[in-house]
Amino acid sequence: MASIFILHRERLLLPIQREQMVRNRWKSMTEDEWLECHNSAAMLEFVRPKATKRKLRLFAAASFRRLTHLLPDSRQQHAIEMLENVTDETEFPRGIGQGARMALPPSADSYAGKCADDPYYVGLMLYREFMSSSTACHATAALNGLADHIAEQMEQCRLLRCIFGPLPFRPIVFDDAWRTPAAVAQARAIYEEKAFDRLPILGTTLREAGCHDTSILDHCRQPGPHVRGCWVVDMLLGRS
Ligand SMILES: [Zn+2]
Repeated sequence: MASIFILHRERLLLPIQREQMVRNRWKSMTEDEWLECHNSAAMLEFVRPKATKRKLRLFAAASFRRLTHLLPDSRQQHAIEMLENVTDETEFPRGIGQGARMALPPSADSYAGKCADDPYYVGLMLYREFMSSSTACHATAALNGLADHIAEQMEQCRLLRCIFGPLPFRPIVFDDAWRTPAAVAQARAIYEEKAFDRLPILGTTLREAGCHDTSILDHCRQPGPHVRGCWVVDMLLGRS
């Protein structure tokens, strides 16, 4: 019983230890390193000082959305939806976090030490996302509850590249002339309907409006994943 408790306690402490280790190691990063990086926690720590809370929460939302097979309770689904609908001013009602806490499976013991996905641990990280001031840290920490965390970590790296693009490294000037009514309407629909498969169409609209910025056009053509917070859609809509 004592060993189970110690193991469980170490797992609960791990995100904090991991965050500190990563923060110390990744205080700077070049754009090439960002593009090649396979460590989502490192990318998150690098970008955190430059990021709005909204962008960080949207990364957390997209990360937990990918793990919904381990978060089946309606209260957990509601919590993810709340993260997806954030603005920078959003203050979550305490009931959201409490609901995620109440939705945890009754015991983690049956998963401890086994090479299996751990719904308790992933659910706990979702709950802590609402309780902690370290926004988005628990989305990367949730990887510790996965049997195959490496593949998921690669996906998180792609999400971070979608949300932040090249902006942590160089400014992109978005000409107002490119914000045609058609482009704005398309971008708004893509955001509201989460219809990111339409990004290539938006790219064509932007090019027809005179945009020749290869970073913008290439990102629209990339197959993704693209999610709410995608830097091109956000920039067009004036969101940060
Ligand atoms: Zn994107």
